[in-house]
Amino acid sequence: MQIGCPTEVKPQEFRVGITPNAAQEAVAHGHKVLIQSGAGLGAGFSDADYTAAGAQIIETAREVFAEADMIVKVKEPQAAERAMLREGQVLFTYLHLAPDPEQTADLLKSGATCIAYETVTDARGGLPLLAPMSEVAGRLAPQVGAWALQKANGGRGVLMGGVPGVGPARVAVIGGGVVGTHAARIAAGMGAEVTVLDRSLPRMRYLDDTFGSVFRTRYASAGNTAELVAEADMVIGAVLIPGAAAPKLVSRAQLSTMKPGAVIVDVAIDQGGCFETSKATTHQDPIYEVDGIVHYCVANMPGAVARTSTLALGNATLPFMLELADKGWRQACRADAHLARGLNVHAGQLTNAPVGEALGLPA
Ligand code: NAD
Repeated sequence: MQIGCPTEVKPQEFRVGITPNAAQEAVAHGHKVLIQSGAGLGAGFSDADYTAAGAQIIETAREVFAEADMIVKVKEPQAAERAMLREGQVLFTYLHLAPDPEQTADLLKSGATCIAYETVTDARGGLPLLAPMSEVAGRLAPQVGAWALQKANGGRGVLMGGVPGVGPARVAVIGGGVVGTHAARIAAGMGAEVTVLDRSLPRMRYLDDTFGSVFRTRYASAGNTAELVAEADMVIGAVLIPGAAAPKLVSRAQLSTMKPGAVIVDVAIDQGGCFETSKATTHQDPIYEVDGIVHYCVANMPGAVARTSTLALGNATLPFMLELADKGWRQACRADAHLARGLNVHAGQLTNAPVGEALGLPA
């Protein structure tokens, strides 16, 4: 099979769909890998790295789309890319179709077979191609929050780990899933005093069994949340209700109970955010202040560490990419029900029921 990987064109996207290591494995499986010239530069991979891995460098996206049987990307295809998709071609990437009728219409029209990273599942009910990005965003959250806590950035001027004789920062993490667990681990590793709030008792039991006294857990009742938010130097929002907008767990009025210069890092901003005062920001202009509280609400946090994110995503996508290339999409989806759940569009039909429901289209 010919596997093509164009340069990402969405603004501020520096990741790349295929790493040189992934290209090398695909070539070893007998496939031809076509990489657009410069596609890996944002993640620190040169054309020479891909050539050494056995891939072929192609000058333009148009040629990659024209020649490849399967396109492997990171972000949903932009309008110009959608226009280059063709009938029978396989697209393997993040799609996030539910809130995007325009993209959905173009993909249906293209006749391509579109497999979305975000709906592939695993045996434990998780989302294996979303988890690496939650791990990255979670680990990044205390790092950006610590920066925002610095005086020059509007923060309280508190050091995460304190120093001998001076106490550490207090960090409250709302939501103890993938993002929250990784955020709590890193914040605790920086020396902060960390509490994770969640509404799932089994999850809190798991965290307690696994991490012991590294951080504490508290049930996320409104009262406990209000108490911990008021005491915190940093609050990290990491809740998720699958398929729904994030619940607003901290109101604007509650900001007045917080310490002046405290920091909110709302990782759940890509689902609308879990603080009433959250609005999406960008890496260029990541923070703003409301009522003396510094807010960091970047919707694509993994983009800040494009190399780590590319490697992490590549580790997760590689086995599926190889299955698709080795067996063809039809046989690969027949053999693997988890991969089959990734199928969102085929030959002009929506093939994922929740996506169809969200868009009011038959699936
Ligand atoms: P997850 O499903 O692993 O964890 C979510 C947790 O929230 C669960 O443990 C759940 O029990 C808990 N929860 C649900 N409702 C709650 C409530 N009312 N109070 C307290 N806890 C509650 O999800 P995840 O992978 O950790 O993702 C968390 C959020 O981060 C999602 O919105 C995801 O889209 C987002 N995210 C954002 C970025 C970014 O760049 N900003 C990157 C990755 C993920």
